[in-house]
Amino acid sequence: MPSDRYAKMIKTLQRKLGIKLLAIDFDKTLVDIHTGGLWLRETSDLVHHVRPGVRSLIASALTANLRVCIVTFSSQVTLISNVLKASLPPECEADHIIIRGCSGDWDNDIDFNRCGKQYHLQSVMQELKEKHHMELTFEQVMLIDDDGDNVDYARRNGCKTLLFVDDGSLKALKSPKKLKS
Ligand SMILES: [Mg+2]
Repeated sequence: MPSDRYAKMIKTLQRKLGIKLLAIDFDKTLVDIHTGGLWLRETSDLVHHVRPGVRSLIASALTANLRVCIVTFSSQVTLISNVLKASLPPECEADHIIIRGCSGDWDNDIDFNRCGKQYHLQSVMQELKEKHHMELTFEQVMLIDDDGDNVDYARRNGCKTLLFVDDGSLKALKSPKKLKS
């Protein structure tokens, strides 16, 4: 898809759905494989697995000042940060992407089997409130995830959601009515 399509999708999310935070899963969504949180090979080997469409969507979001976060059960947040920096165009501020993984520094005693990514999102929203004075509600969050359970939990909590299969799934962002909410 041409890159201006992604810019239009982001504009639609912001203007028609009031989205203020774009949350994207890592395994099988940003990248086309599942690392299991146990990636031991070179970062560059994983960069090859970044999906071009999701990368373009993130780049367009950053350009449009839409906040982006990665929400993942992987604990390899430094790896994910390096993958983002190596994948995004240099003009994109990859450092502005908040990465919330199961890294052990905020997620003690949470049963993720019963809540999907909701605690991840809450934690990101807390950081935005503390550091940037942004007070968001779940209704202003869009989650893109390949896991139907995560999508269902998010939808039940009021988030806008997109069940990701492949880059073609992103076409739904052109028509907000087709999105689950
Ligand atoms: Mg996934």
